[in-house]
Amino acid sequence: MHEVSICEALLDQLTSLAAQQGWPRLRRVWVRLGLLSGVVPDALEFAFAAMATGTPAEGAELLLENEPGHFDCAVCGELELERMDFTCPQCGGALQLLRAGRDLWLSGVEPMPS
Ligand SMILES: [Zn+2]
Repeated sequence: MHEVSICEALLDQLTSLAAQQGWPRLRRVWVRLGLLSGVVPDALEFAFAAMATGTPAEGAELLLENEPGHFDCAVCGELELERMDFTCPQCGGALQLLRAGRDLWLSGVEPMPS
């Protein structure tokens, strides 16, 4: 499962960050998902909750944010959408995908207050 390996990498990153900063526990973790990352948010949340046990991220809230993709409409020009679509939501015309992220990345961490 794709999400399990992603989650392992994320937890490694969080564990070293927490060690560096001297944070025993984390309260919230923000992750941004590129439009083309192929990550299923529910699966990632599930893997995170299960795999964080025994790490500083145990019990932390995982907040997923969608990184919008950039599209071009011949009528409306460039627009950003948080989902894959080839029909312009404004005029119904054809959309072309200009660029969208394939990765996901850690965008924020809040330690548990002591
Ligand atoms: Zn349009």
